[in-house]
Amino acid sequence: MSSKSLPILPGATLGILGGGQLGRMFTIAARTMGYKVMVLDPDAASPAGRMADVHVRADYTDHAALKQLGAACAAVTTEFENVPAASLIELANHCRVSPGADAVAIVQDRSHEKSWLADNGFATAPFALVSSEADLDAALAATGIPALLKVSRFGYDGKGQARINTLDEARAAFREFGGQPCVLEGFVKLEREVSVVLARSDTGECALFPVAENRHENGILDVSIVPARVTDSLMQQAREMARAVADKLGYVGVMAVEFFVAGGQLMVNEIAPRPHNSGHFTLDACVTDQFEQQVRALAGLPLGDTRLLSPVAMVNILGDRWHDGGPHWDALLVHPAIKLHLYGKEAARPGRKMGHFNVLDADPEAALQLAEQMRHAL
Ligand code: AMP
Repeated sequence: MSSKSLPILPGATLGILGGGQLGRMFTIAARTMGYKVMVLDPDAASPAGRMADVHVRADYTDHAALKQLGAACAAVTTEFENVPAASLIELANHCRVSPGADAVAIVQDRSHEKSWLADNGFATAPFALVSSEADLDAALAATGIPALLKVSRFGYDGKGQARINTLDEARAAFREFGGQPCVLEGFVKLEREVSVVLARSDTGECALFPVAENRHENGILDVSIVPARVTDSLMQQAREMARAVADKLGYVGVMAVEFFVAGGQLMVNEIAPRPHNSGHFTLDACVTDQFEQQVRALAGLPLGDTRLLSPVAMVNILGDRWHDGGPHWDALLVHPAIKLHLYGKEAARPGRKMGHFNVLDADPEAALQLAEQMRHAL
């Protein structure tokens, strides 16, 4: 990654691999700041493509498309972890790329990610790597039951995961996943889940957003509450661990670290090499939001102020709500301190993230209460 012409200033073109909602919010932030944006995504109806100056409709491994991006953009980033590391390397021959291929290659594969965390002394749930059916017996002995079998690659939002209570169930799940490499994880009795979104610059400067407390439903983030309802000491530990993860990865850009809280201790669950759903509260509740921060880190600008301006509860809006004529937006929009964000997706499918809303209130419990009320009213 070359840093010779930093910072990259407004007027320049920034590129992004992936055109989903995260890419869309990056595109909006970048265009607000006066950058041009080029999106690479094969989908003609890509939410980010519609907001971009240029939408290149091609596969992420398409050499001509990568060349086009590399020639037009001063810098390129990604909105999803499954971007082929080889494409990042190819792009890096033409322009600045962040995050780097090395960091993405570690975190896009659950087996590599878990091993890297353990090797670097970060606490995780008990786990064992599974590459064949013969590994399952010993793996279950290592993790105990119940356990979760998770595919190493391309799992997200609870997909590619199965709850395991017996060796037979483990075998059946492994076969159902096509025998691909997996991680078996001990099922942790969660007290809470929290996450930290941060940005790290080329110089190692780190800016951390406030710790979010996250509630999941069916493996998908449902609600984030900020500030998280944990002790100051746990909050501090989460921030320090997140920063240490970024430092050890030599990471440049915005990333998220998700944690389990069990027995009063933190365990790292996952690292995301991009802005994160649990950081959407920053859009309305912080001086700088995570997407502006992504632009700043990519452009080599000083990182923005991450201060929390108001307690907030963020609620995801999934495609499940598009029955009986769609969500009741009128019930939501009547509230002056609720901020609605919709991603412009055409087809609403169960489990598909269609948008979110942030509820701001000086009293965090009141924010959560209204958020829950609205979640039902929609
Ligand atoms: P993941 O996609 O691995 O982040 O899992 C999605 C969600 O499933 C997590 O945020 C947790 O709520 C739950 N989960 C995943 N792994 C475990 C585990 N080992 N023990 C308990 N709950 C888990």
